[in-house]
Amino acid sequence: MSENSSFQTLSDVNPRGLRVFVRADFNVPMEHGVITDDTRIRAALPTIRELVERGGRVILASHLGRPKGREDAAYSLAPVAARLADYLKQPVVFSKESTGPEAEAAVNALREGEVLLLENVRFHAGEEKNDPELAERFAALADLYVNDAFGAAHRAHASTAGITAHLRAVAGRLMERELRVMGAALQNPERPFTAIIGGAKVSDKIKVIENLLEKVDFLLIGGGMANTFLLAQGYAVGKSLVETDLVSTARALIRKAEGSGKSLLLPTDLIVATRFAADADHRVAALDAVREEEMALDIGPETIARYRAAVAASRTVIWNGPMGVFEMDAFSHGTRAIAQAMAEVAGTTIIGGGDSVAAIEKVGLAERMTHISTGGGASLEFLEGRVLPGVESLARRSS
Ligand code: ADP
Ligand code: MG
Repeated sequence: MSENSSFQTLSDVNPRGLRVFVRADFNVPMEHGVITDDTRIRAALPTIRELVERGGRVILASHLGRPKGREDAAYSLAPVAARLADYLKQPVVFSKESTGPEAEAAVNALREGEVLLLENVRFHAGEEKNDPELAERFAALADLYVNDAFGAAHRAHASTAGITAHLRAVAGRLMERELRVMGAALQNPERPFTAIIGGAKVSDKIKVIENLLEKVDFLLIGGGMANTFLLAQGYAVGKSLVETDLVSTARALIRKAEGSGKSLLLPTDLIVATRFAADADHRVAALDAVREEEMALDIGPETIARYRAAVAASRTVIWNGPMGVFEMDAFSHGTRAIAQAMAEVAGTTIIGGGDSVAAIEKVGLAERMTHISTGGGASLEFLEGRVLPGVESLARRSS
């Protein structure tokens, strides 16, 4: 695991006068060319501002969406350049090419403290293939490489991994923060350490559960995935979302927890409805009282109380995956209650996962958490205990 923590950062370099290739994650949601959420742009500002102040010639690169290896105006990063210029209060030059003569000319025109944004790196088919030739062309634009794209760190692509064969690679401030906060929680947590895992499916998160079971004191399971565990305990869960092929895996995880003295907490009551709809009739049901025509869409009040108590007693809490169908108010109480309990924890609180982050923002408690990860898939793979390619390729600290 130490591979995830001994990397070099902006503190290890002097960027003055250097052409600095910064791989950022500007993969923002857009509708008709308008940015609908610029969280990821704001998250990249500390690194960009620092490089500007320290006299770097800043070359920004990112992917946006899935343009399938060819130019597609719908996936242009041009709107991001405009938004960046607003935040930085200085011009951001946009290059319609991310390699070749146009990009080179734009880079050569950059003076210390000036900023350039290259067009979507995925307009090149070689990006997602980690094509060495494309990586070399990116590298030719710069003297130093800074990876600040935690959200893309689980992919070995030309601009996240291949390029580091040619340039010294250090972590940007966002990357550094993501790795340090989550790394510390996994490697050296203040205890009690609790993980809350929920969301739709067990299959997405088996490896996360397995890895975290080794490290935590309490593991709380909720959301749709809890149903498969309840089935493993012998309860009938009606029309609930279940993965019958994973019942034996769930049973094995329950046994593993028992054998290792960890507390694996499962729901002891549920909110059930007869339809998957915001206005469906619903009721609280004990585990042995779910009718054939009912489905579980949230954890029940007794479960909420037990989970809140576990969270309240903890000094480190990691949460991935909503406790219920939080998009519908009637089934959002479990998720809200966990968010509230986390907000009151005196210690480290970390949230990862796209829907979990959306949930915490909906509840308005994001500011109360220690860390909200900007990487959905990347944070999941990090919690699985994997070394991410974008992290592995950073220069090591010699100490
Ligand atoms: P994240 O993006 O945070 O990792 P997931 O994608 O794994 O989370 O799961 C989020 C989804 O799980 C939400 O859309 C939510 O509605 C759904 N979900 C949660 N509980 C249930 C449930 N009991 N039945 C069906 N879907 C559920
Ligand atoms: Mg999700």
